[in-house]
Amino acid sequence: MAVGNIYTAKKICPVCGEEISVTKVRSRLISVKTDDDFCVHYKDFNPYYYAIWVCEKCGYAADENHFTGHMHPKHQELIRNFLNERKIGLEHHEVRTLAETVTSYKLAIFFAELISASAGHIAGLYLKLAWIYRDAKDKEKEDEALAKAVEYYDKSLATERYPMGTMTDNAVIYLIGAIHKRMGNYESATQYLSRVIGDQRARSETTIFNKARDLWQDIRSDKETPEHS
Ligand SMILES: [Zn+2]
Repeated sequence: MAVGNIYTAKKICPVCGEEISVTKVRSRLISVKTDDDFCVHYKDFNPYYYAIWVCEKCGYAADENHFTGHMHPKHQELIRNFLNERKIGLEHHEVRTLAETVTSYKLAIFFAELISASAGHIAGLYLKLAWIYRDAKDKEKEDEALAKAVEYYDKSLATERYPMGTMTDNAVIYLIGAIHKRMGNYESATQYLSRVIGDQRARSETTIFNKARDLWQDIRSDKETPEHS
């Protein structure tokens, strides 16, 4: 248990205004490998367990940026009205269990949907939830969360403006392809990856272009030699 990687900090909840405890992750983590869908594995520790902050007083949950950033008064009101009638009451534990972590993501997704957050943001929450299940070796639940991530990334690509943060549209198209491959949907994976490889503009995004090409070749060679896995 890598307790040295985390510590408790006091924050103000943007919904109820109370002071609460949250778990913060120290930044000196050693990464071991990165999966095709950008999931980073670290030595003896999984920081994705602590990506969502949950208010122990009112039950609001969001990732650090949304928890500490400006909240639109209309969103604040929507969430307050919802929480007024309910008692969520989640105690803060510095070290989270798998169940507590899953709950934190489900709450964050719920509140993001309640305030009609961007599809790209909701997709990212589902993707990280999938990584939690991956870490727990629950393939069925991982695939369910990945399917939701794909659904929201597709919606985001069709309706939202890119680049979004550091994500370009080609990065998202690559990511959808990588997620499909993870789920074993090789036809869909190939279609998305081909879009990146076939886009002249993508050639200037060398990292994404190369990743798309490598993954596309992986799928092709897997198909040619089924005994290879
Ligand atoms: Zn609160």
